[in-house]
Amino acid sequence: MTEPDPSETLFERIIAREIPAEIVHETDTTLAFRDISPQAATHVLVVPKTRYRNVGELAAADPALLAEVITTAHRVAELEGLVDGGYRVVFNTGSDAGQTVFHVHAHVLGGEQLGHFGR
Ligand code: 5GP
Repeated sequence: MTEPDPSETLFERIIAREIPAEIVHETDTTLAFRDISPQAATHVLVVPKTRYRNVGELAAADPALLAEVITTAHRVAELEGLVDGGYRVVFNTGSDAGQTVFHVHAHVLGGEQLGHFGR
């Protein structure tokens, strides 16, 4: 089984409140905060407080925690008024997908008509 990765990224510092972020929701195991460079009218990141590098490692090691991340993403969508219009949850995984922070995070995007994704 994959062990949590203890090496530090920016998101551990946000979880520890060492770097400020606009937090929109928190549970015992997850934190949701606004992306500093929003790509939609609403753009919130959801992270597990335990660090895994990407969603595949999280799914293999702790599927219950992955479910909690998704549940928090849906709760954020409710709090942000996105459920009726719809929203998108994205896990960029690896460099081809543009992952830049190697602490797994769900992007919750909505609040406007989103373009189709791809290239
Ligand atoms: P990735 O590219 O790894 O899928 O997503 C990383 C996200 O973190 C990007 O959307 C980026 O804008 C966001 N980000 C980078 N630095 C900061 C920061 O200091 N604070 C916040 N709130 N978001 C950040």
